[in-house]
Amino acid sequence: MAVDSTQIGKKYSLWINGEAVPGQHGETFPITNPATGDVITHVAKATREDVDQAVMVAREALEKGKWATWPASKRSQILFKIASIMRERLSDLVQLEVLNTGKTVSAAKGQVYQAIEDFELYAGAITTIQGTTKSVPKGFFHYSVKEPVGVCAQIIPWNYPLMMAAWKVAPALAAGCTIILKPASLTPLTAYALAEICHEAGVPKGVLNVITGSGADIGSYLAEHPGVDKVAFTGETSTGKDIMAKASQTLKRVTLELGGKSPNIVFADADLEGAINGSIYGIYYNTGQSCEARSRLLVQEEIYDQFVEQFVEKTKQLRIGDLWNQASHVGSIISREQWEVIDSYVKSAIVEGATVLCGGRTPDGESFAQGYWYEPTVIVDVTSNMKVVQEEIFGPVVVIQKFATEQEAIQLANDSYYGLAAAVWTTDHAKAHRVTSQLKAGVLMVNNPFSTFPGLPFGGYKQSGFGRELATESLDLYLETKSVLSYTGPKPLNPFQL
Ligand code: NAD
Repeated sequence: MAVDSTQIGKKYSLWINGEAVPGQHGETFPITNPATGDVITHVAKATREDVDQAVMVAREALEKGKWATWPASKRSQILFKIASIMRERLSDLVQLEVLNTGKTVSAAKGQVYQAIEDFELYAGAITTIQGTTKSVPKGFFHYSVKEPVGVCAQIIPWNYPLMMAAWKVAPALAAGCTIILKPASLTPLTAYALAEICHEAGVPKGVLNVITGSGADIGSYLAEHPGVDKVAFTGETSTGKDIMAKASQTLKRVTLELGGKSPNIVFADADLEGAINGSIYGIYYNTGQSCEARSRLLVQEEIYDQFVEQFVEKTKQLRIGDLWNQASHVGSIISREQWEVIDSYVKSAIVEGATVLCGGRTPDGESFAQGYWYEPTVIVDVTSNMKVVQEEIFGPVVVIQKFATEQEAIQLANDSYYGLAAAVWTTDHAKAHRVTSQLKAGVLMVNNPFSTFPGLPFGGYKQSGFGRELATESLDLYLETKSVLSYTGPKPLNPFQL
C-alpha cells in the first residue's frame, strides 16, 4: 500500500473542551515523517496559558460535569463505542501512526489493535469498581467507596503513540477522571485522532483534552500545576525523576513507566532456533525503540559461539525499510537526534574495546539516503561496566554476554539499575521458574518474546518506575478510596462523657 504524506493534509490544533483550538499564541511546530525526513504537517504549540485553560476545563468537567457520576454502565457503553469507532478507522489510524513514527505497517497495526482492546478491557472492567463493607464493633456500620482520583495529566512518549495514549486514557476514563493528555512532540497525530473519536463516542466536553508542545516547558508545568491531582508518565527515567520531584510539591499521585535495559537469558538446553528467533524479535521489534526491548542478551557458554553465529546471520536477513509491506521487519529511527544517540553508543563501545559483528551504520541503498535509518546491530566482547551494557540505547542494538552458571546469569541479569522486563529460554521449566523468581523485573517472559496482552499487568521494578498499567487492577491507580464509619445507635456517641 502506498500512502501519500499529503493525505494528512490539515494543520492540527489543540483539543480543549471538546473542540479544536489554535492555542493562545497561534504558534505551530513541524511534524516530520522519520522514514523520509519530510515535514508532513504542523501542530499547535501550547503555551502555559493553554495548559491553564485545559486544566480549568478538566476541573470543571470533573466537578460540575456528569462524567464521574454517570452510572458505570453508561461510561462502559461509551468506552465500547470508542473501541468500535477505532475499529472502523483502523486503516486511518495505522496510516497516521506509520507516517508519523516510521514504524512498519505490521507493528503499527498490532499496536492500534492493542489500543482498541485496551478500551474494550476497561469498558468491561468498569463494573469491577466497587467499595467494601468491613466488620466493625456492634453499633457501627462501615462502607468504603471508590471515587475518581481527579484531574489527570498523562504524559506519553513517541515510541508507541496511540498504544501509550490508550494505556492511560482508557483506565482514567473508566474511573471517571478527567484528562489532559500530552503526547510526545514528535508524534502527536494519533492523540488528536483519539480525542476526536472519544468526542464522537459521547465523552463529554472537557473530559479529555490534548495539548502539544515542549515537554520541558508545558510537560513540566503540568507536573507542578496545582490544578492537577495525578500525573501518569511514560518516558525516560531521568524525566520521570524530574516529574516526581515537581509533583511532590503538591503531593500529586504519580505513576511512572520508565526505561529499561532488559536481559534475555538463553540457557544451553534451550530450543536453539526458537530462542534465536524470539531473541531477534525481542530486540528488533519496533526497531528496538521499545522500553521492554531485550537489549542485553546473556548466552550460556556451551552454545555461545553457535548462538552468536546464527543470531548474526539471521539479523542480517531482517527486512528493513518498505514500511507499507506487511512482511517488513524493521522501520526507521524516530529522529535525527535519536539516530545520533544510537550511533554514539555504538562508537563508544568500539572505543571501549567491544566488537560490532553487524550493523552500526545506515543501510546501503537509495531508499535509506533520506530519513533516519540504522541497521540492526550486534555487539560482543563487552564487559558489564561499558555504557552499552548499562545504559538504555533505545534503538536496534543488542549486546551479547557469555555466562557459565545459572547463578552467574541471574547476577548479570540483575546488574542494572533498571528492572522492567526479562526473558528466559530453556526447556527445563523448573529452572525457568527458579530463575524468574530471582530476577528483579516486573514483566517476565519464558520461551516467549511477547510481553504485553491487555489484562496483564505491565510495569517496572527499580528505576524502571512503579505502578502497573494494562491490567484491570490498574483502575486503582485512578481511584481514591473513601472510608465511611457511622454509628447506628439512637444518639451519637459521646466519648468524653460531656
Ligand atoms: P522522554 O522522557 O524524553 O519524553 C516523554 C514525554 O515526556 C514526552 O511527551 C515529552 O515531551 C515529555 N517531557 C520531556 N521532558 C519533560 C519534563 N521535564 N517534564 C515533563 N514532561 C517532559 O521519553 P521519550 O524519549 O519520548 O521516550 C522514550 C523513553 O520512554 C524510553 O526511556 C523508554 O524506555 C520509555 N518508555 C517506557 C515505557 C514503559 O512502559 N515503561 C513504555 C514506552 C517508553
